Amino acid sequence: MDTRGFAATVAKANLTPFKFSRRELRPHDVAFDVAFSGICHSDIHQVNEDWGPSIFPMVPGHEIVGVVTAIGPDVTKFKVGERIGVGTFVDSCRSCEYCLAGNEQYCANGQTGTYNDYERDGATPTYGGYSNNFVVDENYAVHVSETLNFEGTAPLLCAGITLYSPLRHWGATTGKRVGIIGLGGLGHMGVKFSHALGAETTVFSHSPGKEGDALRLGAEHFVVSSDLDEMNALENSFDLIINTVSADIDLTPYVKLLKVDGALVLVGIPGKSFKLNAGLIVPKRRSIAGSNTGGMAELQEMMDFCADHNITSDVEVIASDYIGAAYERTIASDVKYRFVIDASTL
Ligand SMILES: [Zn+2]
Ligand SMILES: [Zn+2]
Repeated sequence: MDTRGFAATVAKANLTPFKFSRRELRPHDVAFDVAFSGICHSDIHQVNEDWGPSIFPMVPGHEIVGVVTAIGPDVTKFKVGERIGVGTFVDSCRSCEYCLAGNEQYCANGQTGTYNDYERDGATPTYGGYSNNFVVDENYAVHVSETLNFEGTAPLLCAGITLYSPLRHWGATTGKRVGIIGLGGLGHMGVKFSHALGAETTVFSHSPGKEGDALRLGAEHFVVSSDLDEMNALENSFDLIINTVSADIDLTPYVKLLKVDGALVLVGIPGKSFKLNAGLIVPKRRSIAGSNTGGMAELQEMMDFCADHNITSDVEVIASDYIGAAYERTIASDVKYRFVIDASTL
């Protein structure tokens, strides 16, 4: 299948138009026209090889929504004309204990990344969503409600599930107090989900100017993280705090805010190691944990939850010729709250 995309041909390169072919449909494959593709900060990290060697040419994009155009003969999950979404991985081993439990994101044999990876054959590169069409196994795609604004659903596939999964896993619900550190692409989804799940939600930010947005998005409280009086007054009061900030920040002040059995969950990956005094953890049975996206069943659960609660991401829709500028603005945190490429401009 002939495909038009945008690719980086070498590390750190500006993205330029790139023609390539998608595979012919296998029995369980679904083809779709991409409608919108979100720009995730990890796209930029991988283009720039911040996390190690990448595979080039690279077509980034793992927040992909579109409309089904063709299905393989054994497909039962999708029909032509339906909305479909693809997230951060497109396959996994399907046989390890994690895959069998629906936690494909933790596949013991490695998930297949939506781009910058190879298919299970170990040889065919995967190309992401900055493209006009896509082919995916039906088991690694989700249904997207017709009722949701389409452009705002794309970032749910990475930014959304990255927050939804830990909120569900650690039991955010009515009567619980949840903190979200950082109000960017990830954090703003955390606020929406935490609020919709019924938890009392607090945003921690170093930017006082974000208070208005935090409250508008559903937070009950806003705390400027440098305000020590305010931070001290909140000690021992949170059930769950999710750190969405990838920059190196001191976690100690946040650990102190946790109740007995409270958890501080990391979803960003700062480059440096951090030190933590065990005396903050042991006496209150506190946890420090991590969480990485969600499994396919949970991704569909989140999409259905979004339809029930009319939740989408706040986005700025751009044309393909703006990708470079959008990358610079993403690095500068100058976006409310996610760039989404209109695939009709590719
Ligand atoms: Zn992402
Ligand atoms: Zn597996």
